[in-house]
Amino acid sequence: MLSTLQRIVEAVNQAPEFEVALKLMVTRVKEALGSEVCSVYLADHDAKEFVLMASDGLHVPDGERITLAFGEGLISLAAQREEPLNVADATKHPNFKLVEAVQEESFRAMLVAPIIHQRQVLGVLAVQQRSARAFSGEEESFVVTLAAQLAAVIAHAEAKGLVAGHHSPWLRNLTAVPGAPGVAIGHAFIGKPAARLSAVVPRRTEHPWREIHKFRKAVIETRQELKALAAQVAEHVAEDTLAIFDVYQGMLDATSLGNSVEAKIQEGWMAQTAVKVVVEGFVAQFEEIEDSYLRERAVDVRDLGQRVLSHLQDHRKIELEVPEECILVAEEVTASMLAAIPRDKLQGIISLKGSANSHAAIMARSMGIPAVFGIQDVPLNYLEDQFLVVDGYSGDVFVNPPAQVLHEYEALLLEEQELADIVRQHRDLPAETKDGIQVELQINAGLNVEHGETRGQHNGIGLYRTEIPFMMRDRFPTEEEQFQLYRQVLDSYAGAPVVMRTLDVGGDKPLPYFPIQEDNPFLGWRGIRMTLDHPEIFLVQVRAMLRANVGHDTLKILLPMITSVDEIDESARLINQAYFEVRNELVQKHPGLDMKRPQLGVMIEVPAILYQLEAVARRVDFFSVGTNDLTQYLLAVDRNNARVASLYEVYHPALLMALKGIIEECQALGKPVSVCGELAGDPGGALLLLAMGYRTLSMGGHNLDKIRWIVRNVEAPMLQVLLSQALNARHPDQVRRVVNMKLESLGLGGFVRAGK
Ligand code: PEP
Ligand code: MG
Repeated sequence: MLSTLQRIVEAVNQAPEFEVALKLMVTRVKEALGSEVCSVYLADHDAKEFVLMASDGLHVPDGERITLAFGEGLISLAAQREEPLNVADATKHPNFKLVEAVQEESFRAMLVAPIIHQRQVLGVLAVQQRSARAFSGEEESFVVTLAAQLAAVIAHAEAKGLVAGHHSPWLRNLTAVPGAPGVAIGHAFIGKPAARLSAVVPRRTEHPWREIHKFRKAVIETRQELKALAAQVAEHVAEDTLAIFDVYQGMLDATSLGNSVEAKIQEGWMAQTAVKVVVEGFVAQFEEIEDSYLRERAVDVRDLGQRVLSHLQDHRKIELEVPEECILVAEEVTASMLAAIPRDKLQGIISLKGSANSHAAIMARSMGIPAVFGIQDVPLNYLEDQFLVVDGYSGDVFVNPPAQVLHEYEALLLEEQELADIVRQHRDLPAETKDGIQVELQINAGLNVEHGETRGQHNGIGLYRTEIPFMMRDRFPTEEEQFQLYRQVLDSYAGAPVVMRTLDVGGDKPLPYFPIQEDNPFLGWRGIRMTLDHPEIFLVQVRAMLRANVGHDTLKILLPMITSVDEIDESARLINQAYFEVRNELVQKHPGLDMKRPQLGVMIEVPAILYQLEAVARRVDFFSVGTNDLTQYLLAVDRNNARVASLYEVYHPALLMALKGIIEECQALGKPVSVCGELAGDPGGALLLLAMGYRTLSMGGHNLDKIRWIVRNVEAPMLQVLLSQALNARHPDQVRRVVNMKLESLGLGGFVRAGK
């Protein structure tokens, strides 16, 4: 049975058209079960009826639409109960409804299985036989399994508007993953890569030096091109986002791509071939990484490789003819593709591949351009020349929408623009509530940080993730390399606190040069667990941080993934050791100079820490709550697994109770605590955190203005009412309703339209 089932699903998936797929499926199921009829009905929720989409065995008069109203017949009963019905003689069942047009009267045995996708009944699969008999358990489970597998196929077809005849005439909306909030309306502009690595045919050369020369020239040209692209977007993005281009430049360095490509050329390959082989090798390594953020770096590496390739191929630069008010649509939108389009024309972004973690998504958020990612099974040319509405809150894309949908979105767009204008005007004012409560807003940074001012006022860096520089190499960075990097960060933010987190790799985000194989990576060798097992890595990093801090005294060190006090004691011992080493070296070189010991903090992200706060507080200077991991570990929901994404609920009552408990205990213990997970930069999340008593929030630079505006519009009594309502809620949706209503009543409705 299993192989028959697999064959049917395979055939259905490969069918050129949806209708062919359905026809094929009913025929194959009928054959497999030796039954006399197999039919598929799909629900038309607008007309409130089931429509017979395909049948093998029932006689459907040409061109006739056969339907059953919701509530009628065994078809409706199975759908309503959301369970299969196995009826030996359907004609005797009280719910039986004869459909005369299809000459159904001669069939008695009936097996009906609902087709359910993400808890929604899409239709039913029905098998019938002349003789009265109950279908066997095996037959029943075969039909149920098949219906479950087909649900996804049908859901995709519905989303693509392929389910003809029982939906409204305009193409239905496509569903993607929201990447950057906002609404965009415009014409599709198809973005293509400058050159394709996959198209390069491997060729050898007799003159490696000539090829090396060509490669070096192409690298120089690529560097210039990247500089120009960065300059083009510089005024539109936060500085930490601009650093994406520094990362690109870094990848072009000899130690990253350069040496490997030149070594390949020395082996006798032409430059184009060497670039292809080396870059595709890097891409494959990144694509294997489970962590979705780091996996997305494969896109950057490929993009960079294709840029170098385009210079090797000496493509004349074609000026892009970008329509006014365009929506950039590409197989895989990259940060540099985005930068190449004039900001005033770019309204929105649709990337068929990729996720909210891609650099393009980070840039889009930073530039305030609505974006959606990951529309499966839609070919690029399907969107070509189309008029589109992109909803970056929900992930919906409307293709040639009807007037009423368009008007609704136009009104929303206007509301948003007005709100954005107001928010921007307040960027230089302090984050202070109406009744004078001061709130510290800090920035989460992780890429390189450039010199200069970051948008609006802020109170330094609340979380500097150090993972990325470790990822972008083919070996651990040296102490000197790390020192340079950290020094640059501390210089850029001189005078303001900078919280640097020690390396949080391992488990799900292994380094390309340090592979780790585990069955449960999120519960594995990650963060502090890995670095404590490798004190040589930890010490080098801490030494680099301490050296970079000399003369600044603004560094704070943060430990990730702490589960027990032993880990803190051991880390503190190593930090002490590094401190005395660096201090001795400093005093020897510069007698009279001294060095302050940096504050030490731990992330509250593993639930076990919630029950040891007192013991931990005796060992550290501050806490920082990582709501991203705390949510995943408290709710036992993988933060990167799309299948359980709807269960990853930051408004879950359990999480709210945990956050409230943390702030109360930290206040009692007299320990400063901040929040550096995504929740701090979420308008509703920030409201709740303020209400609970958190006074330091750290977030992506692009959220600063928005959250400042929220802070400036609230006052304590109103927050208390909100908090008690939220804490009384028993379901995340209730919390969301309460929070959204509050934002609406503050005139911040434009921030609310988040997908759920
Ligand atoms: C967190 O877990 O909330 C956090 C800030 O750290 P990261 O997202 O880097 O795991
Ligand atoms: Mg974390």
